[in-house]
Amino acid sequence: MSGAVVRAETGTRGASEVADETNPFEIVRGQLKRAVDKLSLGDDTYELLKDPMRVVEVGIPVQMDDGSIKSFVGYRAQHTDAVGPTKGGIRFHPDVSVDEVKGLSMWMTFKTAVMGLPYGGAKGGIICDPERLSERELEALSRGYIRRLAPVMGPEVDIPAPDVNTNPKIMGWMLDEFDRVRGQHLPGFITGKPLVLGGSEGRTAATGRGAVFTILEACKRLGIDPRKATAAIQGFGNVGSNAAWNLQEAGVTVVACEDVRGGAYNPEGLDIPGLLNYVAENHTVKGFPGSRDIDTATLFALDVDILVPAALENQITETVAKTVRARVIAEAANGPTTPQGDELLESKGVFVIPDILCNAGGVTVSYFEWVQNTMGYYWPPEEVDRKLRRLMNRAFDTVYRMKEEHGADMRQAAYLVAVHRVAEACEARGWLQIRTHHHVPSPHLHMMSQAAPAGAR
Ligand code: NAD
Repeated sequence: MSGAVVRAETGTRGASEVADETNPFEIVRGQLKRAVDKLSLGDDTYELLKDPMRVVEVGIPVQMDDGSIKSFVGYRAQHTDAVGPTKGGIRFHPDVSVDEVKGLSMWMTFKTAVMGLPYGGAKGGIICDPERLSERELEALSRGYIRRLAPVMGPEVDIPAPDVNTNPKIMGWMLDEFDRVRGQHLPGFITGKPLVLGGSEGRTAATGRGAVFTILEACKRLGIDPRKATAAIQGFGNVGSNAAWNLQEAGVTVVACEDVRGGAYNPEGLDIPGLLNYVAENHTVKGFPGSRDIDTATLFALDVDILVPAALENQITETVAKTVRARVIAEAANGPTTPQGDELLESKGVFVIPDILCNAGGVTVSYFEWVQNTMGYYWPPEEVDRKLRRLMNRAFDTVYRMKEEHGADMRQAAYLVAVHRVAEACEARGWLQIRTHHHVPSPHLHMMSQAAPAGAR
């Protein structure tokens, strides 16, 4: 899966040093090694974290609509449970591979660690083309996957969520299957569920909204007034459209948006609520009244303050990076910048908010969903939002301080924070001894009950 492979390049600056630039598992290992070395944590830390603690392969027989039986292959990789139960999505795609889920499980460990969430990382996948399955076949496949993996999953063991080609409806089927296998009602088994089954308010908008919280923090550090700032966004799906809406709400002038069919540009600013209505009817931003067409290369080269890649991986290559004029790039997508593009952006002094921080709002609200399920008590949207803002801001601040302390860029700093946290948990469990300790502010849980900062929604 080309997309999936590159997604795993997330935050892997310098990936060219590793054996295979396209193997997500090797790439993430390279990132881990560099962080361990930079922090002088010692070789034991690398040895302990370089392999997932458990990788399961399952065969899932499904009776197809024509009456025949077809066996599908699925995987679940659980990287480490040092910090807490493992957490990560399940993707349905023809190119799912064992190295892909292994790499992505490690990457989830670092994403949850940078946020200070009490989880380790996991990832699952089934090799299939969901577009060629009927709804009944899809449901049978989803349920079969859970039946096979139920012995190694659970709300305190490993908690799945949606990923590529999976959605709340599939999460609902999976929850039902798990409840049947266990003979219990366990809503905290899975996140990204429909609200009626214990899903959380704010989950759908969380990634785009969280990304904007990090952008506003970056603006503060860089002395950019959001009300005078301009932005361009690639991708107008879940993440891109929510980022656009939240940027406009914060006073930023969004001058360009683009989707797979084309782009819309208006130097005076696009009316985002109007654009959302237009897209609902026309399924593209292209042709939005008052705008002119714009292509990808032109969008990335616009003279704006903030660029938000929110579509695909590998968009900001070295060639594109040369043309970038923005001061801030917010990686709302996974892996939108190639390692070479990243190096060029750094040499130009562009402030990159790395994806493991920028788009972590989704897994953060998944965590809130799990907490609410555990309590059996549900929060109103404002409460979810306030807590999301606090955690995003706190994570940003921690990474920023790490950057200052170690003379790193934001991406390296995010990995330093994450790897240090996981290593500390391993040490606290008596699994290893860290060679050099650093001060990284401890996770957030005690922060959760504090009053929201002025202006928080
Ligand atoms: P989506 O499918 O809802 O939207 C994707 C958007 O990108 C669509 O507007 C599509 O038209 C556009 N697009 C596709 N190809 C394009 C191209 N060649 N040029 C321009 N635009 C193109 O997906 P999403 O959930 O918004 O995810 C976007 C990115 O964010 C992905 O990298 C995803 O992995 C990442 N992400 C999503 C979440 C989440 O909660 N949805 C969480 C973390 C990371």
